Amino acid sequence: MNLADVIRTIPDYPQPGIMFRDITTLLADARAFRQAVDELLQPFAGLKIDKVAGIEARGFILGGAVAHQLSAGFVPLRKKGKLPHKTRAVEYALEYGVDALEIHLDGVHPGERVLLIDDLIATGGTALAAIDLIHQGEGMIVGAAFVIDLPDLGGADRLRAAGVGVSTLVGFGGH
Ligand code: AMP
Repeated sequence: MNLADVIRTIPDYPQPGIMFRDITTLLADARAFRQAVDELLQPFAGLKIDKVAGIEARGFILGGAVAHQLSAGFVPLRKKGKLPHKTRAVEYALEYGVDALEIHLDGVHPGERVLLIDDLIATGGTALAAIDLIHQGEGMIVGAAFVIDLPDLGGADRLRAAGVGVSTLVGFGGH
């Protein structure tokens, strides 16, 4: 199946000029969901992943399934103020707006091998903040995997330039 065919595009959401790539249609399709999870983890199978880190909120759905399949733990990276215990935070710029990402201080232990998962990489600001959080906890980033790449926004290249192995499943031109 071509996963691009089950991703819905919503023009001008949440702001004019943004083409929102909506994966709820992919998640609702049993075969597409399984294929996406299988393809996300395939490059990293056998690389001894200790933890999958998923970015709120769609990275939780995909990352949880990937963690289960890899028999790895799952660590949530959440928007500011959502995690109940002691946290570390990193601020980052979104394609639309500014935000902060947080991790529990005990979410990743020093030396643990971490796979980062999210639904989409655009500018890469969110993923670089996530990588920063994991590095600050002395975790090792084994790689980062996304269902969707917006290559014109350069995020995947920014991660590669930072030495992170990046895997994406579907590319869309433009924003
Ligand atoms: P960025 O930090 O610019 O790489 O943006 C990636 C984050 O913002 C991901 O968590 C995405 O879910 C979300 N995002 C950015 N642009 C879009 C878009 N066009 N459609 C859907 N989600 C997006």
